[in-house]
Amino acid sequence: MFDNLSDRLGNVFDRLRGRGALSEQDVRDAMREVRVALLEADVALPVARRFIDNVTEKAVGQDVLRSITPGQQVVKIVNDELVEMLGGAEVEGLQLDAKPPVVIMMVGLQGSGKTTTTAKLGKLIKEKHGKKALMASLDVQRPAAQEQLKVLGEQVEVATLPIVPGQQPVDIARRAMEAARLQAVDVLLLDTAGRLHVDEALMAEMKAVAGVSAPEEVLLVVDSLTGQDAVNVAQSFSGEVPLTGVVLTRMDGDARGGAALSMRHVTGKPIKFAGTGEKLDAIEAFDPKRVAGRILGMGDVVSLVEKAAATIKEEDAEALAKRMAKGQFDLNDLRTQLRQMQSMGGLGMLAGMMPGMKKAKAALAASGMDDKVLVHMDAIIGSMTPKERARPELLNAKRKKRVAAGSGTEVQEVNKVLKMHQEMSRAMKQIKKMGGLKGLGALFG
Ligand code: GDP
Repeated sequence: MFDNLSDRLGNVFDRLRGRGALSEQDVRDAMREVRVALLEADVALPVARRFIDNVTEKAVGQDVLRSITPGQQVVKIVNDELVEMLGGAEVEGLQLDAKPPVVIMMVGLQGSGKTTTTAKLGKLIKEKHGKKALMASLDVQRPAAQEQLKVLGEQVEVATLPIVPGQQPVDIARRAMEAARLQAVDVLLLDTAGRLHVDEALMAEMKAVAGVSAPEEVLLVVDSLTGQDAVNVAQSFSGEVPLTGVVLTRMDGDARGGAALSMRHVTGKPIKFAGTGEKLDAIEAFDPKRVAGRILGMGDVVSLVEKAAATIKEEDAEALAKRMAKGQFDLNDLRTQLRQMQSMGGLGMLAGMMPGMKKAKAALAASGMDDKVLVHMDAIIGSMTPKERARPELLNAKRKKRVAAGSGTEVQEVNKVLKMHQEMSRAMKQIKKMGGLKGLGALFG
């Protein structure tokens, strides 16, 4: 899914991420490339334009958090805008709570995957929602369409309405409603007829069926591989029948993603499901956050930035950055770092999120060092006097004993904290030699 777009964006961000500082021009250059990538992915022009405007405005105006690189911050802004473009943070599920039988009407052109999707949803409603479903094919256009649904129904073990040859769609809908009531069905799925193109006869039929069945959901099924055509089809339908959502099929083969990315903005309708294969369980609730994550492939960076933004106080970070740049790093600074680590979800969490730090995480686990250690270290530093924190070399044997007693630990542990501090300040000095804070990136690269 979205492979081409992912690759293109990946290239843009790889270049941005390495930089220590980003100028407005850097951001604008990058956004020009993102724009081309979106258009190549067949995203509608106004949608691409709005996307770029929004991202540029946020990226240029924003104060950069000290603890992350500007490039990482841009990744996060682009991610958030992608989520917005795909429909926002909410997953829009099915409305199944009305008085049964709840009717779901499936509409779409021929070959879009409507019948397959009807069976997939029938299975999902039975298995995930635990509700009794009935499926009825109203498709008298395509030869054997009704038989097709019957066969699929047998495969997913969901009942289908018996076929009465020659009966017309509105009458089939009425009969289906009646059967659903008699059989205490929770959800009735109506698979309507498609056409090769959107035409008046099709729209009149959809309106008539909706008129007799009062559907809770009207889901339009479109083939994502048709890109902007799918978006146009959705626009035509939404002018005629009250669509409640869209199902994008063949997302498994869609390397471009233009339909998914433009659908919401152009039609105003949420994408509720994605079809991801021919098998009858190949359907996913459409989750904009997850899809954006897949497109960018940088979930680690995004969550890192989210956590950093939520927890790190700007002033702390700035003061620390200055001291670090000068090669000063005392136990107060170590304590601040420890507390940040704790609020960011502990050691394992942090190591897991940093690109390239998987090994560090494994090493941590192997050493038996866990988050309790952070709490102990904090207590140890807390038992020192301000003078000792600023000048750790003051800590002789006697003072160490006092600190251990005060923090309910052992002298050994006090020594460990001091050793860690020594190692960190040595590392800081090295970073300074490597060119200041910019060198920090090299540690995590
Ligand atoms: P309808 O005319 O709209 O009812 O379309 P069908 O349900 O008969 O589907 C047409 C073809 O598309 C069938 O061969 C399906 O197996 C296939 N199809 C449907 N949805 C998907 C999907 O999400 N992914 C893939 N790869 N194939 C699909």
